[in-house]
Amino acid sequence: IMITIKSKSQIQKLKDAGKIVAETHQLLKEAIREGISTYDLDQMAEKYIRKCNAIPSFKGYGGFKGSICASINSVVVHGIPSKHTILKNGDIISIDIGALYNGYHGDSAKTHGVGDISEKDKELIAVTRQSFYEGFKRAIVGNRLSDISNAVQTYAESFGFSVIRDYVGHGVGENLHEDPQVPNSGKPGRGPRLQEGMVLAIEPMIATGTYKVKVLSDGWTAVTLDDKNAAHYEHTIAITAGEPELLTIL
Ligand code: MG
Ligand code: MG
Repeated sequence: IMITIKSKSQIQKLKDAGKIVAETHQLLKEAIREGISTYDLDQMAEKYIRKCNAIPSFKGYGGFKGSICASINSVVVHGIPSKHTILKNGDIISIDIGALYNGYHGDSAKTHGVGDISEKDKELIAVTRQSFYEGFKRAIVGNRLSDISNAVQTYAESFGFSVIRDYVGHGVGENLHEDPQVPNSGKPGRGPRLQEGMVLAIEPMIATGTYKVKVLSDGWTAVTLDDKNAAHYEHTIAITAGEPELLTIL
């Protein structure tokens, strides 16, 4: 594996891209409601990203048609935006957004409830978010990569939830997906030592039932095998000499 170390000026560029991603998340969060289609959300995101002189990172990636991934309920990741996918009261929707700006990518995902959602789904969303922060706290110089993974897993499983294995986080930079892979589970103390200037997307995907997934015949949509709900939370972060830094924020 080849992990690129980013300079301070490169990290500033990653933050500039990350800010556009965060602003797009804010816009979509305010637009999410019963009756809107995931296509409408996708169009809204693409327009905003392009207005910022950025490019939606996912559009055309491996042939993906959308500018965002919009994954409802038991869809874990890579839901394709569609005019036929209309949000209903009680759904949960994971939105994943990437933007390429000035040569660098930002990548961040969040799960939102639509209207009144179940207590279980509220807990799922909150635990998924916090599992990210448990991993984030371990993203410090001298730790090993799997210390992040183990912290995510330990936290999520302590609530009886399961951690998706088939999809992982990744390095981010001039490419959307760079080395190293960042799993959300595993024993601590393994993998490369974390160094200042590493930029990672940490992205727990957590399910209320099984962690096993299958990809639908469209080649993208990843759903849980038992059709139970899953949530996703992701930020692009930088490892610094001190505390880790969130890059995909306002
Ligand atoms: Mg993402
Ligand atoms: Mg990612």
